[in-house]
Amino acid sequence: MFVDSATILGQGCEPSVKNSEHADGTSPATPKRKAIALFSGGLDSILAAVLVHRLGIDVTLLHVQHLWSGGEASRRKIRAAADRVGLTLRIVDASNEHLGVVRHPKHGYGSAANPCVDCHIFMLRIGKRIMEDNGADFVVSGEVLGQRPKSQHYDALLDVAAESGLGDRLLRPLSANLLPDTLPVKEGWLRRDDLFSLRGRRREAQVMLASEFGIEEYPQPAGGCLLTEKAYGARVFDAFEHMGRDAVTRDDFTILGIGRHFRLSDATKLVVGRDQSENEALAGFASGRVLIEPALPTVGPAALVEGAPSEEDLELAASVVARYCDHEDAAPINMQVTEGKNRRVVSAEPLDADDARLRGWRIEPKAPGARRFARR
Ligand code: SF4
Repeated sequence: MFVDSATILGQGCEPSVKNSEHADGTSPATPKRKAIALFSGGLDSILAAVLVHRLGIDVTLLHVQHLWSGGEASRRKIRAAADRVGLTLRIVDASNEHLGVVRHPKHGYGSAANPCVDCHIFMLRIGKRIMEDNGADFVVSGEVLGQRPKSQHYDALLDVAAESGLGDRLLRPLSANLLPDTLPVKEGWLRRDDLFSLRGRRREAQVMLASEFGIEEYPQPAGGCLLTEKAYGARVFDAFEHMGRDAVTRDDFTILGIGRHFRLSDATKLVVGRDQSENEALAGFASGRVLIEPALPTVGPAALVEGAPSEEDLELAASVVARYCDHEDAAPINMQVTEGKNRRVVSAEPLDADDARLRGWRIEPKAPGARRFARR
């Protein structure tokens, strides 16, 4: 199927008679074919699942949850999207296993800390397991050829199908006619002509197809996965370098998404909250770390010190946190330092807001050739 509007509007929209009934309207002896459709809640995954369902396949949606797939608010949206298209949704929490994919991706990372090729393989393997457990016949994915340069080019799509173990039991209905035929077509469960030839990053064809299917509500494409963000990626790689990949825990990955991060030394990192919600979130991770806050009546951020800070490191960290407190001059500020059950107050001289070391300590994507500043 072509990607131009006339073709999209003309095809692929009516249920095929192949799987559910004979041409004369009588029921076939063979049971209805079943598919598991990977479901992110994004438009492509909605369209792929709905298309295959409309072609007469019994489709169950599968959402694979991991640390970067969003919290409960995101799952509510996914459930609502499944309800709108009237398909059964299954959510599988694979957060812990997925950490291994992020720590050790066989195919490496994209432009940040996003191991997209391995991540797709991981999700498809879960799809395969659910397919087998449920006696389904194939797995559906909304991937579109060429939509992502590194993970969705022609060879990558074939490699991912093979490495997932699905082989030709993986159908990408939106680009199926640009890829080798898979089992559902070879076996005649679906007709090739009912599938599509979408390619590239443009969204017009999908938007038209959504309109044709009567799908009015769907999320707009936006970053979404934190792993694709360069600032977050810089923090992930810093943590890998200083802690060791396998030592970076689920909590650590969560903290990497909160606040300003400063690498004060090989042994010490400081995370400073930027607003009330971040301050509260950081305070919630104080166990096993050092919590620094301004002592009343000063108002300012909560901060965590991670690693193995020396007394000198803690003094420096308190001065950095003091720089972000509400104060009018460079006079020392009393800062409360909490380590486990021990709490003490130290006097910290706020660093000047223009102190160039602050920029050097910040963990962020560095321009080529940029240098880090010494601690003092
Ligand atoms: S963008 Fe994130 S969730 Fe999506 S495949 Fe890449 S790493 Fe996985």
